[in-house]
Amino acid sequence: MVFVQQKFDGWRLLRWAGCLVVGVTLIALGAVLYGLRTAPTVDLEFSAPKAGDSGVKMLFLGTSSMAWTDGKNTWMVDGFFSRQAVSRVAFSRLDVDEQRVLEVAKEAFKRLDVPEVLSGIVVAHSHYDHAIDAPFLVKTFGGMLHGSESTAQIARGQDVLATHVQATGKQGLANFGQFRVELRESAHAPTGFTGGFNASPLHLPAHALSFKEGISYSFLVSHPLLGNRPFALIQPSAGFIPGQNKGITVDTVFLGTGGLGKLDALYMADYWQEMVLNTEAKQVYLIHWDNFTLPLMQQGVPISLQAMPNLVDDFSKSLRELKKLSQRDGVSLHVLNAWDMVEFPRLP
Ligand SMILES: [Zn+2]
Repeated sequence: MVFVQQKFDGWRLLRWAGCLVVGVTLIALGAVLYGLRTAPTVDLEFSAPKAGDSGVKMLFLGTSSMAWTDGKNTWMVDGFFSRQAVSRVAFSRLDVDEQRVLEVAKEAFKRLDVPEVLSGIVVAHSHYDHAIDAPFLVKTFGGMLHGSESTAQIARGQDVLATHVQATGKQGLANFGQFRVELRESAHAPTGFTGGFNASPLHLPAHALSFKEGISYSFLVSHPLLGNRPFALIQPSAGFIPGQNKGITVDTVFLGTGGLGKLDALYMADYWQEMVLNTEAKQVYLIHWDNFTLPLMQQGVPISLQAMPNLVDDFSKSLRELKKLSQRDGVSLHVLNAWDMVEFPRLP
């Protein structure tokens, strides 16, 4: 009788423990789902500067993807348009969504009013949200793909001709007609997903974590119509090497904020100091703040960006801190939405 009672208690305990584990798992899953679904609404404060008359313009395409043109030559940063859904990123291996990439690229050419031809692409670093689509874009629209050796392995994995890949070390140069783009070693935001190098061709489909960072670059852009020194600095990832911009002055900074909201105010102030104050920039456009698991177009129509989910970033905090800094320093601050165009005025 005693034995039966003990056995009964044992089973009851086991059942309770089982229920507890299932309950805790469900609560944790619910919290993750909630975190992934909730994101701050963003006050998009972009006001297009007076239509520039130089003919040099930039169309923003989410994350740090951009299409630049002067009417003669068109080039891109990253060109990440697949923007696979979060379930695919988490549970499957990724491939280029060719239909989606073509749709966005063609819409971008149309909006820039240029032929569907690329002079090239510069790739910020080798994570998939920067590098996965660039090889396909170069194969489709031409041009030279510039990036680290780690990014070159992604291009090789997609069979880009060796003559269309320019692997760069810590410093490099890309000439697209009259545009001159300097690739300069910078740092990735300290997100915990950094480091590593693709040492052999990366064949698709591949898991998101297979895309190793390689070198993280910032880009310095010059064009003779806008003077004989660089006019814009593009900082795709919210990291920096102290002193990286020594001796550089630019009017405009495109400032990456991905992951910045999870870092402290002191880090943000140091980042601002290096990128904005040290370069004496007058205007700052925030980029890479958006949830890149959502598309840029829906049923053929361009749509707005949404902020990163609270689970992975806190864009409202970044915006609050950066606003304070911009007001303190008299720098104009804008949040770029997808499909916003920045036109640059000719030098007086
Ligand atoms: Zn990255």
